[in-house]
Amino acid sequence: MIPAAFEYTRAASVDDALTKLRAANGEGKLIAGGHSLIPVMKLRLSQPATLIDIARIPELSGIRQKDGKLEIGAGTVHHAVATSAMLHQGCPMLAETAASIGDPQVRNRGTLGGSLAHADPSADYPAAMLALDADIHVKGPNGARVIKARDYFRGLFTVDLAADEMIVAVQFAPVRTAAYAKLYQRASHFAIVGVAAALDVTNGVIASARIGVTGASSHATRLTQVEEALAGKPLNASTIEAASRSAGAALEDINSDIHASREYRRAMIPVFTQRALMGALDRAM
Ligand SMILES: Cc1cc2nc3c(=O)[nH]c(=O)nc-3n(C[C@H](O)[C@H](O)[C@H](O)COP(=O)(O)OP(=O)(O)OC[C@H]3O[C@@H](n4cnc5c(N)ncnc54)[C@H](O)[C@@H]3O)c2cc1C
Repeated sequence: MIPAAFEYTRAASVDDALTKLRAANGEGKLIAGGHSLIPVMKLRLSQPATLIDIARIPELSGIRQKDGKLEIGAGTVHHAVATSAMLHQGCPMLAETAASIGDPQVRNRGTLGGSLAHADPSADYPAAMLALDADIHVKGPNGARVIKARDYFRGLFTVDLAADEMIVAVQFAPVRTAAYAKLYQRASHFAIVGVAAALDVTNGVIASARIGVTGASSHATRLTQVEEALAGKPLNASTIEAASRSAGAALEDINSDIHASREYRRAMIPVFTQRALMGALDRAM
């Protein structure tokens, strides 16, 4: 279908985008890569009067080190995340996650901020953001604020972001002992079940674990039971096998659709939790 008619304007900076968003009086939408928004507009599920293009704002793009953390601008495309030498060194799990998204066209247009704002229940980045305990930096008419990833994902396509706010960047501490594993839809590569696992390891013992799952339910969430089962245990395959066994057992709203039944998804959560954790173990060696 063809989208409803709309005005188009390009923002030169974050402040310019926020001004234009405010001027649109609730009828405006930011557009970054357009790979989620345009399909929704074609279905006429969204009919913004004005599209504010933020794809060419220099300050929104790039991967850098800041105050001992890694920072990625919201406008950074998936391909840049997947191929970043800084991330391959400091957080290979995130590069691996980005490389698993869609196809080359999607990875060269789609952005981290667009994915987090859209919050598709099958999107990959949300699981990674939870495992990284990332800070999501947002700007709006009342200034800047920072939201913890664990507080950000609220429900189906629902996040802690107001219509007049925009994501400017995400920040997280580097972690090498982390990995992402997903069972993906063959056509789109969206996650049927995707698990990101990050481990803090001291002298061969798991000090703490953070595990995010996507695709399984209405929104990405932490697998806290598995995290607790891992904490304080030696990092080895039998610890991982035992802790993964009941992964997702406490999840109540497991998705069921043409890609996988509820029962199948439930069965796959422990499998892909174990795979992600084994990937993290490999990186600890
Ligand atoms: C064929 C296909 C396959 C795909 N496969 C996958 C996959 O395997 N895994 C996966 O995770 N995703 C997949 N995607 C989705 C893709 O990653 C999208 O690019 C992404 O979800 C949205 O990013 P975008 O930059 O295109 O956002 P847009 O489509 O431009 O915007 C999406 C929404 O976010 C808002 N927005 C954009 N940027 C910001 C910002 N900085 N602050 C606030 N709001 C903002 C927009 O207003 C809009 O509401 C696929 C998409 C397609 C078309």
